[in-house]
Amino acid sequence: MARYTGPVCRLCRREKMKLFLKGPKCDSMKCPIERRPYPPGEHGRTQLRRKDSEYLVQLREKQKARRIYGLFEKQFRNLYKEANRQKGVTGENLLRMLETRLDNVLVRLGFAASRRQARQLVRHGHWSVNGRRVDIPSYQVRPGEVLAFKVGSGAETVVRDSTELISSVPAWLEADHDSLTAKVLRLPDRDEIVTPVQEQLIVELYSK
Ligand code: SF4
Repeated sequence: MARYTGPVCRLCRREKMKLFLKGPKCDSMKCPIERRPYPPGEHGRTQLRRKDSEYLVQLREKQKARRIYGLFEKQFRNLYKEANRQKGVTGENLLRMLETRLDNVLVRLGFAASRRQARQLVRHGHWSVNGRRVDIPSYQVRPGEVLAFKVGSGAETVVRDSTELISSVPAWLEADHDSLTAKVLRLPDRDEIVTPVQEQLIVELYSK
């Protein structure tokens, strides 16, 4: 799978807000949004004064969600189609599916400082689910599943350092930062998904 290799902070500036894509740097004064809170490019500053069309607002919301969770357009659209097929509210289904991706869950549990780092840890085979190695970052975790880190591998320090950065774990997850294991207690409710995304705008965009 190809991946975005360009400057990550540029993505935040494009969305005019912090997307927290770089771990500890995002909470420091080194974050470029602190100094340049406007979109990149020659006309970046003028875009702050522009009144966005309805379409642009919807598009930006979708791009923001896509960038926060680190998906390409095709992956994101496929996830939307799947969310639309499921019972319930499409927007909430979509957010829940994004939230229960294995790479995102590791961030929520405090086992990775960013989704990028989580993806790398998963791809390199450091995590197992119910005792079986899973190296697919998009793997959807399910209630009752137990996640475990392969203790003793070279990445253990990175994972333990990440656990120092988190203050609390969402109520739908349970983490043991000593043994580097975790359990998925249930699926998250909408109000437990703290990602700043208005999912209804995304549904409106894709429903056109
Ligand atoms: Fe975004 Fe983090 Fe870069 Fe700031 S430091 S612009 S929040 S990725």
